[in-house]
Amino acid sequence: MSERKTITSTDAVHAGDDKHKAFDSVPMPVVQTATYTFADSAELVAYTQGHHPNPDRGEYGRYGNPTVAAVEKRLAALEGTEDAVLFASGMAAVTTALLALVKSGQHIVLFQDCYRRTLEFVTDVLSRFGVTHTLLGAGDVGALPDAIRPETRLVVSESPTNPYLACIDLEAVASVCRARRAVKSLIDGTFATPVNCRPATFGVDLVVHSATKYLAGHNDVMAGVVCGPTGLVSMIRDLRGVLGSVCDPHAAFLVGRGMKTLALRIERQNATAQAVAEMLEKHPRVERVYYPGLASHASHAVARSQMRGFGGVVSFVVRGGLDAASRVVDGAKLARIGVSFGGVETLIEQPAIMSYYEMTSEQRQAIGIADGLIRLAVGIEDATDLIGDLELALSSA
Ligand code: PLP
Repeated sequence: MSERKTITSTDAVHAGDDKHKAFDSVPMPVVQTATYTFADSAELVAYTQGHHPNPDRGEYGRYGNPTVAAVEKRLAALEGTEDAVLFASGMAAVTTALLALVKSGQHIVLFQDCYRRTLEFVTDVLSRFGVTHTLLGAGDVGALPDAIRPETRLVVSESPTNPYLACIDLEAVASVCRARRAVKSLIDGTFATPVNCRPATFGVDLVVHSATKYLAGHNDVMAGVVCGPTGLVSMIRDLRGVLGSVCDPHAAFLVGRGMKTLALRIERQNATAQAVAEMLEKHPRVERVYYPGLASHASHAVARSQMRGFGGVVSFVVRGGLDAASRVVDGAKLARIGVSFGGVETLIEQPAIMSYYEMTSEQRQAIGIADGLIRLAVGIEDATDLIGDLELALSSA
């Protein structure tokens, strides 16, 4: 278990780094190029025929870039996988991976509390190309063996999930899939990051992240990644070259730079979120708190067994419904109203009027989104300032 729970900050700083960089720079330079030149025709032929002394050299930007490749190596080291492939966004990573792994006539099992756009891609887009699916209740791993059919190729989940931070038993998911060799498991680990949980060490085949969130960590860049074994990642990388969902070198540089402080940021965010959750749980204006680090959370035992820390997002329901929640959000001065999470700045949002704004209150109730729900994504500010800000917002609401 300890190996599963450990990543080293040394890897976060150095993995994927080449000691001999252009112009002796310390960080990996941004190789901002769309294409690469060859010295002469003989060099080009050596490359295309597969006997170039440097088979990793570039040919064209859609097929690879040294800055991107360095970040991919670092991500693979942190997740404990053989390889990783970087994308223009988290959704580019998810959609390219799914398209690479399933074809018409095949079937995907996914859990209801998956990221909304992942769900939409499977139910509304892949279904148009003859890929069928089964939706399981949030965290219902017990139903997984029966949901798998002969044509099932993929089981997709997240851990923790949004916005209630349910954690799925990764070992159970992986062992159900491994018992059927054709079925691969894919876990979206965006909320956990490899600092808090490394799904591949539990036998999960593929791990995806919206690198826009904690990996990059500064609310200033969009990117995504798929980590896994060489064979699967190569298939996904080849499709990236066709679909063109590549990460720009400068965006990759920002992800790589953000990752150097990943462990430091996550440790701070884990501690602050735990303190915030404990304060909220005692607050008379708060009806319920969802944080896997609290003993009251339904996933607490699973989270403790597979996570090193419980993450930087805390969800809570305030008494008084939608308007009361809006007053709390408006009363918070440090936490800024915004979708997304994982950056150094604290963000706060009301799912009912942000991510699920187009639904009626009844439709939201049906999928479990309470009107009084608030999602707080803590940044790296001082915990005392954040707690003071929230206490003030709650008392004045
Ligand atoms: N996965 C999860 C869990 C997310 O929360 C998000 C975005 O919020 C995504 C994937 C998609 O990532 P991106 O916004 O980088 O495309």
